[in-house]
Amino acid sequence: MDPRGTAHLPLKKEDAAAALARTVGQIADLQEQLYAHRRWGVLLIFQAMDAAGKDSAIKHVLSGVNPQGCEVSSFKAPSADELDHDFLWRTTARLPGRGRIGVFNRSYYEETLVVRVHPELLERQGLPEGLVTPQIWKERFEDIVAFERHLARSGFLIRKFFLNVSADEQRERFLARLDEPDKRWKFNPDDLKDRARWDDYMAAYEDMIRHTSAPHAPWIVVPADRKWFAHHVVASAVVEALASIDFKRPRATAPSRREIAAARRALATSSSPESTPSRSSRGSSSSS
Ligand code: ATP
Ligand code: MG
Repeated sequence: MDPRGTAHLPLKKEDAAAALARTVGQIADLQEQLYAHRRWGVLLIFQAMDAAGKDSAIKHVLSGVNPQGCEVSSFKAPSADELDHDFLWRTTARLPGRGRIGVFNRSYYEETLVVRVHPELLERQGLPEGLVTPQIWKERFEDIVAFERHLARSGFLIRKFFLNVSADEQRERFLARLDEPDKRWKFNPDDLKDRARWDDYMAAYEDMIRHTSAPHAPWIVVPADRKWFAHHVVASAVVEALASIDFKRPRATAPSRREIAAARRALATSSSPESTPSRSSRGSSSSS
């Protein structure tokens, strides 16, 4: 897929900020409904090569969302404790609850990417010998597909974004990280080792996307060389996912008509507790 492709969308760079602001507003509105409805949950997964713009996409696309309804988890190299468990353990602990949006910045998909490209990482996982066969990647795809089907059947929408940056654009972004003092903290010399394995990563990504895309958990390959375009694609896909939920069905926690009527009656006849200062007295006494 072309990392600079636009799929013939008529969006121009000068219109992108306004279009994104509109979409971000739609996401904020829909997230409020998701939170109030509290039956569905949403999982957004981001995978990409270094400097493809995962952080920036998450920051922009979710900039309107109420922080109480959203949680971002970033998965780095696993700890000793995490390596002592099955590969879905640490991410399962970070799944969103109903009414919430969970964002995975990297995910269990690393188990079919970095671990595949660097076999020494697989050795470190301490799996019983007989279980490590050439079939292991196919088996991991099957396990992930089954796991995501289980999540979908439990009421969780899943959207998976592969930010498809080109090797040339990655070089430019690495150079910018070296050149600009403000960006230098982002540069990690180890990233060059992964860059040297570019073709192996692309083969692993392609195999992974082919084996784990499903109607209820699609991979969206996002042209990522232009950030403004990538943000537009991700934000639009998030709106599409949230808008597919039927929020008209009864809310999990909405009060019944009888409860509403009883509460109105109770409030109509109850006087305010004496110790609570009235609005006017609070206003006049505060000078600070
Ligand atoms: P940036 O784009 O800013 O560099 P990042 O997501 O790459 O952000 P890093 O601090 O570089 O963040 O750490 C992530 C590293 O952890 C990646 O190199 C990734 O491949 C590695 N990692 C993630 N999950 C696993 C895993 N299951 N096994 C081994 N390594 C993993
Ligand atoms: Mg990195």
